[in-house]
Amino acid sequence: MKIMVAVKRVTDPNVKVRLLADGSGVDLAAVKMAMNPFDEIAVEEAVRLKEAGLATEVVVVSIGPEKATEILRTALAMGADRGLLVKTEAAVEPLTVAKLLKTVAAEEEPSLVFLGKQAIDDDCNQTGQMLAALLGWAQGTFASQVTVGEGKATVVREVDGGSQTVELSLPAIVTVDLRLNEPRYASLPNIMKAKKKPLAEKQPADYGLAIEQRLEVIRLEEPPARAAGIKVGSAAELVKRLRTETGVLS
Ligand code: AMP
Repeated sequence: MKIMVAVKRVTDPNVKVRLLADGSGVDLAAVKMAMNPFDEIAVEEAVRLKEAGLATEVVVVSIGPEKATEILRTALAMGADRGLLVKTEAAVEPLTVAKLLKTVAAEEEPSLVFLGKQAIDDDCNQTGQMLAALLGWAQGTFASQVTVGEGKATVVREVDGGSQTVELSLPAIVTVDLRLNEPRYASLPNIMKAKKKPLAEKQPADYGLAIEQRLEVIRLEEPPARAAGIKVGSAAELVKRLRTETGVLS
């Protein structure tokens, strides 16, 4: 069974992003970039299924600039077998990514496609669902547990107020949530080995697709600064303040 994993290059979650002076976008000039954290979880899950003998090959795919090869190499160092970069310098929207992933999936014929539940740059949470719709495949989103059986996968999903279990016939799309696993760090020997693993490069045009911009960003703004909190000395003081200062209690 082949597993395909979609990985996106985003701003490192540990850096504070700044806006461009004219508010037209985020200043990415000197910002550290990394693999989207949910995609690390997706790679980890695929690699674990391979280690358990349930998958035969893990292919990682990224759509983005040349530098996205860095996160593909990281995925290869974590244990993926092969990488594919669909190279474009243009910003790609979820529908474009889903269309490209659809054509890659048609070529690769994976039994499972893992994606992150969302990319932390735009927080769209759309690509996996769009891909499932375009392919007409089953989908299990927000996965906190994935069990693979004969021709099917059982996915425990994180939903409001608890969890839901769905059974999917393969091939299927799974988008992964935070609690699924804790991704490994790539070891130095594996980083060295990953340099020799195959990494192909294609263009959107190779799949007969042009990058379309359907969305227009009007302006970005910093969220308003929040006032500092206060510490109260006792429960009695808390109740008094809630009554007199906030009107929360009458
Ligand atoms: P989004 O719908 O943008 O929040 O992204 C959800 C997931 O889709 C991400 O966690 C990735 O697994 C995948 N994805 C989004 N954009 C890309 C991209 N440019 N290249 C590869 N995978 C992507």
